[in-house]
Amino acid sequence: MSFPKEYPEQRYTATHSQPMNTPTAKNLTQRFNLKFDPHTYRRIIGKKEVVIHCHHYNARLQNIIEGTKQINGKAIILSAAEEIFSDYIHNFFEPEDTLADKWQIAAKLYAHLGYGCLDFSQISQGIVTSSSSHFVEGWKAGFIESNCPVCTFTEGYLQGVIHGITGESVYVREKACMNMGADTCQFIIDQSRTNSITYPPQRSLNFKSKPTSQFAKSNIDEGKIINALVEMPFYGNNQGLVPAFNVYLANTPADFYNLICIRFMESMKKQGLFSTAKNLLLFAGEVCAVNTLRGIIISAEWYELIAPMVQEESDNLYGLIAVTNALGWGNWHVINYEPGERLQMEALNGYEALGYLEYKGEAKEPQCFTLTGVAAGIMALLHGEGTVEERVGTYASEESQCICCQETSCKFQVELL
Ligand SMILES: [Zn+2]
Ligand SMILES: [Zn+2]
Repeated sequence: MSFPKEYPEQRYTATHSQPMNTPTAKNLTQRFNLKFDPHTYRRIIGKKEVVIHCHHYNARLQNIIEGTKQINGKAIILSAAEEIFSDYIHNFFEPEDTLADKWQIAAKLYAHLGYGCLDFSQISQGIVTSSSSHFVEGWKAGFIESNCPVCTFTEGYLQGVIHGITGESVYVREKACMNMGADTCQFIIDQSRTNSITYPPQRSLNFKSKPTSQFAKSNIDEGKIINALVEMPFYGNNQGLVPAFNVYLANTPADFYNLICIRFMESMKKQGLFSTAKNLLLFAGEVCAVNTLRGIIISAEWYELIAPMVQEESDNLYGLIAVTNALGWGNWHVINYEPGERLQMEALNGYEALGYLEYKGEAKEPQCFTLTGVAAGIMALLHGEGTVEERVGTYASEESQCICCQETSCKFQVELL
């Protein structure tokens, strides 16, 4: 096996400390505590399911949605972040918290999830700044030629938490961005807004999935890998970033991904561009798998934890699947694997399927575009040749059944083209 290596590695590698207990907002470590459900492989922070993806994926997904000229992709990302976080921030407050505590919690939640550092000290003058950013890192790694403000997610986050803390609906606009060479990203709060926010419902976590196939066996002890990864400190360091596996990780509410992908697909469908949109999301998932999983398979963590279990070539795949299950991608398992040729997988509670079902109800066609792309990307990573671009598109992947279409699980078929 050889792995493509073309992106620069993470620029920040500061050691971990957890400055979460402060004189004002108490017990933040406890409030931010991760709960991992061993039955569904879900990661829960503050009563909400979060999914771990890396800066390459998050920047690419944003680039796809904002870069499609026929729709207002920036509004999709901004409003989804606003809606999710205006509600989510309340899950971290306690009755005795002061206003100052709440601003501090908003900054620390942002950092804890891995998005970067926010400074609310000038909030009374209508200014918030950020000295490190998961999204800027993603754009600098993947879109080096870009010279535009890229912190749309942060604009939405700020609009959301300002509403969650003060009840005020405001506009937040990024005036300077580190992606354009500024020292810090600067956000200006505009209080002239008159329309208010509608909250989306919090997703329930009650779906009962059922496998329909026998899963293949390997030499990989998936439970051991998942336990080890759940114990790893995948929360923000002093810069609010999560450098791990040679990438930056971030914990993002699954319903944020659901909202932006559903609204992207709907907006594109109105323009007659449904298949283009589907292919773009598949592409994002595939590139994500090649990049993130490449970072994982060449990381120190892999050599220490997983490599000792690998006895035959096929075990690499099972090791990678175990890692993705620990990251909350979908509780999926291998049904059949012929190295280099084909792969069949079954996902028991992928967040795309469950989110679609909750927001939109049943669908006629499968809806797990990211996982479909990821499945192709895993094969391209393990069996392809050359750079990321050369590998992407070498395998065909299809979702043959989906929870969204009245099935008890989702199934994916990948084949060499
Ligand atoms: Zn910025
Ligand atoms: Zn599905």
